[in-house]
Amino acid sequence: MLKYLINLFFPKLCLGCNSLLLSNEQTICSACNHSLPHTNHHLLKNNETTTKFYGIIPLEFSAAMLYFHKKGIVQNLIHNLKYKNHQEIGTLLGRWYAKDLEAISKVKMFSEIIPVPLHKKRLEERGYNQVTTFCEALSNELQIPYNTTLLLRNRYSKTQTKKDKENRKEISNALFDVTYTDADHNKHFLLVDDVMTTGATLEACAKALLKIPNSKVSIVTIAYTQS
Ligand SMILES: [Zn+2]
Repeated sequence: MLKYLINLFFPKLCLGCNSLLLSNEQTICSACNHSLPHTNHHLLKNNETTTKFYGIIPLEFSAAMLYFHKKGIVQNLIHNLKYKNHQEIGTLLGRWYAKDLEAISKVKMFSEIIPVPLHKKRLEERGYNQVTTFCEALSNELQIPYNTTLLLRNRYSKTQTKKDKENRKEISNALFDVTYTDADHNKHFLLVDDVMTTGATLEACAKALLKIPNSKVSIVTIAYTQS
């Protein structure tokens, strides 16, 4: 009864399209769920994300889960995840994507999941890293440890929205750093971010991780957008 009243006065809305959720739906309505633009990158040896990094950084595997279109469901989901504290979106998408990744043999080779870190100052402003719940869900479902202390962001930069060449350079110099011990050698890191655009941030992170002796790096993101 109480639940019924709460739903009556505070109806839950789909975080993809804002329509009313049915009682058997959570976070994302069935219509949005069925029309999510999956990339299926994980099934392709060469995909848009591998092409992006080809010749720039050596990656074992890279894939994005969904296509990001302006004014689309994925844009709404990412906005709600990133700015509206709807971290349950990351959990849900992470669970779904883990099922896709489980189907490929590469997943057994990953030693640790590494989120692209926020600078301490931005983390304080926002209160959370938007990629945390997605990483946690992948970690739980795939039984791969999740490491938030290895890779650090040193400099605060407000460069997320501009995409020009100069900006790419700036992010590349944004100085991600690694603090590692001998125990971190010989690992295959799965680097995770929310949206892949130019790929410059991921490139800088991957370069930092590849400083660790005998390390390998793979990348997955929630969404992919043409830069
Ligand atoms: Zn919806």
